[in-house]
Amino acid sequence: MTPETSGLPAEGGEGALVLFSGGQDSTTCLAWALTRYARVETVGFEYGQRHAVELACREPVRQALGGFGNWGERLGPDHLVGMAESLSAIGATALTREMEIATTAQGLPNTFVPGRNLLFLTYAAAIAGRRGLRRIVGGMCETDYSGYPDCRDDTIKAMQVALNLGMAQRFLLETPLMWLDKAATWALAHRLGGDRLVELIRTETHTCYRGERAALHDWGYGCGRCPACELRQAGWARWRANPAAAAGVYDR
Ligand code: ZN
Repeated sequence: MTPETSGLPAEGGEGALVLFSGGQDSTTCLAWALTRYARVETVGFEYGQRHAVELACREPVRQALGGFGNWGERLGPDHLVGMAESLSAIGATALTREMEIATTAQGLPNTFVPGRNLLFLTYAAAIAGRRGLRRIVGGMCETDYSGYPDCRDDTIKAMQVALNLGMAQRFLLETPLMWLDKAATWALAHRLGGDRLVELIRTETHTCYRGERAALHDWGYGCGRCPACELRQAGWARWRANPAAAAGVYDR
């Protein structure tokens, strides 16, 4: 079946697959893609109980984004890949003594699997290839997450080459947040969807490693103490204090 007869965009068409977790960053990436591409699909990865809250945010956020302008017409199906069993098995064997020390020092979750984004991008490319989507959009960011080597720009560029060689495709891996800090990510959301999108991200998305959603802070839900909450909180404060400066980071 050719792309034309399947109803999918032909190769080179403006279709995108967004790695969408239900958090602040990937929601901003999804909005970014919806402003640019005629057909946008999402993929999520289930990788353990710790992220159950974040996953539960995905469908409500998708529904809400569909209410913005023409985004509803552009937003296609969601794909959920269950990886909890396989990743927890890898995580358990990876938790050597050295790994535990690195985990504590970098503030990464205990279930962190080295190179996890490489696995996600490989799965995403397989889905994008099957769906005829050329662009793969992810919220990887080098500015605030230097502890994750698989978030680095060089890693993503190398991955794009590897996926295109290995799958005989011309995928484009796009990371709109790569050089933004958290304040600039809020500014980008505001530019894409105004106060309404900022409020949606503030109240409907989830970032907290501990999965806490008991209290709504001015920056959103979360424990307020884990590294993800601290970044989100600090970014919100910097953006609110000086929106123009934060947007300036985005303009650079
Ligand atoms: Zn937290």
